[in-house]
Amino acid sequence: MIFHNPRGGPELACDECGCRWFDRRTMACYECGAPVPAEEVERFNEEIARFHREKGIVVNEMNKK
Ligand SMILES: [Zn+2]
Repeated sequence: MIFHNPRGGPELACDECGCRWFDRRTMACYECGAPVPAEEVERFNEEIARFHREKGIVVNEMNKK
């Protein structure tokens, strides 16, 4: 599920237990192991990109190796 924190930023949380910790490699919940659907991740990425645009935040994660 996707919800918004008090600052308006999107947060991705587990559908099963509501926890927000995911194994980024497998995109599965750390708590209960439920997988995050690919379309959910995609939706979240779109939401966060929009949030960054609205706030004027520039993310350069690609350059941060
Ligand atoms: Zn979970």
